[in-house]
Amino acid sequence: MQKRLTLLGSTGSIGDSTLDVVARHPQRFSVYALTAHRNGDKLVEQCLRFAPEVAVVGDADTAAAVERKLRAAGSKTVVTYGPQALVEVAKSDGCDTVVAAIVGAAGLVPTLAAGQAGKRILLANKEALVMSGDIFMDAARENGAVLLPVDSEHNAVFQCLPSEGTKHGGVTKIILTASGGPFRTREPATLVGVTPDEACKHPNWSMGRKISVDSATMMNKGLEVIEAHYLFDLPGDRIDVLIHPQSVIHSMVSYADGSVLAQLGNPDMRTPIAHALAFPDRVDSGVAQLDLTQVATLNFEKPDYARFPCLALAMKALAEGGVASATLNAANEVAVDAFLNRRIGFMAIAQTVDAVLNALDNRSAASLDVVLEADAAARRAALKIIDSLPVPA
Ligand code: NAD
Ligand code: MG
Repeated sequence: MQKRLTLLGSTGSIGDSTLDVVARHPQRFSVYALTAHRNGDKLVEQCLRFAPEVAVVGDADTAAAVERKLRAAGSKTVVTYGPQALVEVAKSDGCDTVVAAIVGAAGLVPTLAAGQAGKRILLANKEALVMSGDIFMDAARENGAVLLPVDSEHNAVFQCLPSEGTKHGGVTKIILTASGGPFRTREPATLVGVTPDEACKHPNWSMGRKISVDSATMMNKGLEVIEAHYLFDLPGDRIDVLIHPQSVIHSMVSYADGSVLAQLGNPDMRTPIAHALAFPDRVDSGVAQLDLTQVATLNFEKPDYARFPCLALAMKALAEGGVASATLNAANEVAVDAFLNRRIGFMAIAQTVDAVLNALDNRSAASLDVVLEADAAARRAALKIIDSLPVPA
């Protein structure tokens, strides 16, 4: 049966890759809704190509502009806007599958709505799970939602786990691989002066700017450890991080008998996206077959927590539990934004997150409201700390 998709965040990097795979299989997938924040022109192009029933944008002005262009081109796509409109398309009967590809905390409420509506969810928006892991997983379980990880590491783990998941007695550990980002070998003392463009120049992956900065600080891997903890129900001390600069092994699962299963492939998000879209089938993703003679060498090293303090901060937040990881995530989003806008230096990202975690009390993540309050409080605290920091030269 054809799958009908809502694609939250269709104009981003994951959105592009998803639509590329969808376009290869028109008999398998059709599009119910596409959503963007401010990039109305790109959304118009996507609507004209994929003819969704609904298109959602962030505000009324963008909606009016998108609607005008769509009508002029003869499109019948209905245009809506705002956070509630995202929730509506995520839970609508018009779709069975929701691709959660909004960046950051803005993805939480619509992704949770998809969980509550029992959808099949292709999860790229790791921040949603980092903020509200237990709430999100409970909602998915109680409402029969199926969660398919799109994050390449988690998709790899999913592929390497037995069907019972980590409940299978033989699973000992998950090993998340990490490229180490653009600054893996750079002299730590020189990191103070790196620019946003340098931080966004990832050696292996092409991604949105926020996750690219997170890869450079390795906060991304920290968020992924938290994501893995909730997705696969394993404590943090059974989730290892291993630096693997070639990004060919996307992650591994180790077993009691000494076996280690790994998933390999060229670093292209269309592979995990195609896997999750078609699961349990396998379809062409447009990604070239891996040629190991070309790759030739696979290297591995331990992560350097002194060079990458954000990784250690995320591990600490996971160990603390409660709203600590929502606090960490919000402080990081504000700090990354300030770095991208050249308001703070690169090393001040970790400094800001650390200061916010120290300044705010932790408490149990008892409800979505508590999580959203913790998120808001962390944003306020981060902005205050950033105000006191020097503007980089
Ligand atoms: P991106 O910045 O390229 O795209 C983000 C999308 O979200 C865009 O469509 C944008 O319009 C939308 N958006 C942004 N702010 C919004 C808001 N406030 N409200 C509604 N929509 C909003 O980001 P990306 O690189 O595609 O990443 C998306 C998510 O996938 C992130 O959570 C990221 O961590 C995760 N992810 C990305 C990759 C990758 O290769 N890009 C890999 C693994 C996981
Ligand atoms: Mg990843």
